[in-house]
Amino acid sequence: MRVLAITAHPDDMEFMCAGTLLKCKQRGDEVFVCTVNNGNMGHLEIMPDELAEIRRAEAQRACDLAGFTYLYCDIGDLCSYYQSKEQKDILVDIIRQANPDLMIIPDPDDYMCDHVAASKLAFDAAFSATVPHYVTKYPAIDNITPIYYMSTAAGVNFHPTEYVDITDVYEKKLEMLHCHESQEVWLRDHDHVDYTRECRVLAEFYGLHCKATYAEAFRPCLVSHRLRSYRVLP
Ligand SMILES: [Zn+2]
Repeated sequence: MRVLAITAHPDDMEFMCAGTLLKCKQRGDEVFVCTVNNGNMGHLEIMPDELAEIRRAEAQRACDLAGFTYLYCDIGDLCSYYQSKEQKDILVDIIRQANPDLMIIPDPDDYMCDHVAASKLAFDAAFSATVPHYVTKYPAIDNITPIYYMSTAAGVNFHPTEYVDITDVYEKKLEMLHCHESQEVWLRDHDHVDYTRECRVLAEFYGLHCKATYAEAFRPCLVSHRLRSYRVLP
């Protein structure tokens, strides 16, 4: 299978679905990760242009550790708008390049605008990518793929129905998260969060749901053409 995870910011993937993507890799899937926003506002001291570079390098390093292909849209933080055709078309081309059999995208009901916009842009782009007369740089793909929503931040108001036991890849997930060194500082100073703890608590919480030590949780996008009679998550 070909799996594409789309998130708003660099480091969202590591919190919400890195373990699942590592399990996909284990079963032989090709894994693509795309960040919509470049993370340029995520620091109190480092200025946006410099930070965007740093965060792209951090995300690349995490993907390299896992053997994932890293793609990005390079839209500034707080500047993604789900009604922007220009931004949707960037994602259409990402999806056309990855040609996925499974997509994992942010939940549309998350805590901040970039996550919401990334979710809606990804959902809209996923259908447009399959339409041959919708012209962008890359040709249309055939596949109307299953879409799964990843957990909201800290799991608030998220009601999962599918779980992936990530116990055997948890250390790797953590190693990937720690590639985002700039965010350890930002999340501490701005959100008063210890990012290692947040990652562990969420994985333990979802593990508790499904009798695993560590798990990640998802819910399917329940729309026509995107459901399958077999399990697509690992
Ligand atoms: Zn984020």
